Amino acid sequence: MSGGRDLERLADMVGTPSYIYFVEDARQRVAALKNAFEGAFEVSYAVKSNPAHGVLRALLGHADTVDVSSGGEVLRALEAGWSPKTISFTGPGKRESELRLAVTKGIGEVVVESVDEARLLSRIADEHGHRQQILVRIAPTRVPPGFGDTMSGKPVAFGIDEEVLEAALDELVSLPGIELVGFHAYSGTQCLRSDAIAANWAIFKELFLRAAASTGIAPRKLIFGSGIGIPYHAEQTQVDLAAVAEAARPMLAELRDKAPDATLVLETGRYVIGEAGVLLTRVLRTKDSRGTRIGICDAGLNSHLAAAGLFGMLMRRNYRMQNVSAPAATEPAGLVQLSGPLCTSIDVLARNASFSRLEAGDVIAIECSGAYGASASPSEFISHPRVTEWIVDGAEIYDARIPRRDT
Ligand SMILES: *Cc1c(COP(=O)(O)O)cnc(C)c1O
Repeated sequence: MSGGRDLERLADMVGTPSYIYFVEDARQRVAALKNAFEGAFEVSYAVKSNPAHGVLRALLGHADTVDVSSGGEVLRALEAGWSPKTISFTGPGKRESELRLAVTKGIGEVVVESVDEARLLSRIADEHGHRQQILVRIAPTRVPPGFGDTMSGKPVAFGIDEEVLEAALDELVSLPGIELVGFHAYSGTQCLRSDAIAANWAIFKELFLRAAASTGIAPRKLIFGSGIGIPYHAEQTQVDLAAVAEAARPMLAELRDKAPDATLVLETGRYVIGEAGVLLTRVLRTKDSRGTRIGICDAGLNSHLAAAGLFGMLMRRNYRMQNVSAPAATEPAGLVQLSGPLCTSIDVLARNASFSRLEAGDVIAIECSGAYGASASPSEFISHPRVTEWIVDGAEIYDARIPRRDT
């Protein structure tokens, strides 16, 4: 991550509000995942975390595959240069037109989330004289204690509930237009505890082996929704990947033994791109209101819904942020509030945040903003200009949203 003065220069150059993605950092995160497990896992990038063209392109040749969640994301991945075979397509509500797109584009695997979907896909593939490779997404009943943000055990729209797994697989394997090649599970995310992450994968492993046994297939691919979190807030710390690897060792050994043909895949978005991105916003004006200094910024929840605490969080907590215009710690820290420009009281980016100063014109960098930022925010609400997105790759700076044909 660049230092404060660089970020202020960037803000002057590209304007605000703007997301900056330091893609070399993202590539290093992919490499860190591969190295931590000594190559046991391939890495699949979850496009929904950040679908910007420049990001998808920057990860080519680094992440092994991409996981998409819509027909639109299929097209984005293809446009960025990902070959059809490297794409897996997840999502509980794929439309017929999206399944048809997947089949006609020749994408690698459709991750089937229900028997109904499998029937529809089989029919479509059959019509096209194709046998579509699929993975079956399994919805576990439980997550380990301390896992964090989960969707297990509750009624969920995603995947085939493990309680009905065998019956569903029985029907699925008889469908002519599809070929079952493996399994998929993703039951939660944003876990910072190494033991819980590995324990969650061990639950997946049990389900995968159970599913393989019931169908008699030797899985060729097993996708683990990684669940690995990142430290958004000041009191949080990085996941210790070495500790995850240590805790996952027995599980990986068992899979090598019992599913020797399987390529194991870690599917993650936020771990790769989250900390590689920052949102730059400028303070438009300040207001001293009833004892609190408020900075009114040009980015609000319309640019960064998650930083306003409104993207699936239980409560709003300040993201890590800094005033990149203020000289480091020359003045006494004060507690301030940062608001966005919107006419709604929920448009708050920080409360009781500590800055050395806060003046109109200052540039605030909200860190950990590379995932679930621009594309996950209601940019049309109140018709402000859409936040811009930029790639920084070495000495190059370019618009993340505009395809570049020359590289
Ligand atoms: C959202 C999603 C991911 C990525 O989750 P992160 O928290 O960004 O790592 C992976 N797999 C599936 C199926 C998803 O829906």
